[in-house]
Amino acid sequence: MNEQLKSLLALQEIEILIDHLQESLDALTRRFDAIDGEVASARKTLEDEKSALGEMRKAYRAMESDVQAVQARLQKSEAALRSVKTNREYQSLLKEIDDHKNRVWSMEDAMLEHLEAIEKADAAMKGKEEACRRFEIKAQEEKAELALEREDMEKQLERMQQNRREISERIPRDLADKYRLIKGRVGSMAVALVKDAVCRGCYLNIPPQMYNELQQRDDIAYCPHCQRMIYWTKEETLFEAAPLRAKGA
Ligand SMILES: [Zn+2]
Repeated sequence: MNEQLKSLLALQEIEILIDHLQESLDALTRRFDAIDGEVASARKTLEDEKSALGEMRKAYRAMESDVQAVQARLQKSEAALRSVKTNREYQSLLKEIDDHKNRVWSMEDAMLEHLEAIEKADAAMKGKEEACRRFEIKAQEEKAELALEREDMEKQLERMQQNRREISERIPRDLADKYRLIKGRVGSMAVALVKDAVCRGCYLNIPPQMYNELQQRDDIAYCPHCQRMIYWTKEETLFEAAPLRAKGA
């Protein structure tokens, strides 16, 4: 196999590895950012529930002052009872006092119920705060792990890019340009193996005459169907067996 072809295949291999690693790195970054969002949303839920509890307490204090107002009216009516002149006035005041008392009782019942609901929500809140705290700790731990992983990946990526630059330097400019052009058109694999007269890029048969020439000549040809660079080799397992093997891994 000619040296240029070897270099092109090495370039293709390292570029595929770089793309894969970059995808993993992007996925990791997305996960890293999603964690912050999850924590913020858990905190927001907790804060919302806390403020709902605050509203319940506020409503209870309003009920307290309402009942105090009715109690004040009750006392006023009871005081008035001592200075009534007529029986009719007396009866009317008794009725008023009765109404006030009934009102106070039903208000106190409602307050008791409300208080129980507050106590229940308050007890649940402690559990929720603890759960939120644990969730935040777990999130921080995951972020720390991801950060280490990311650092590792970035170093690996840097080494691969250095490797790519070194390989690129061995490839003539015009050949590299052609490679780029084809790669831009077909995606990742610009150089394809031909095996049993089939281009492994497009899986179509190449003409027999061309296949014969490809086996005899040691230079780069182009697939008549997909226009990829094609090559033939006796070393069957060369890049097919382990196309994604990492350099130095
Ligand atoms: Zn092809």
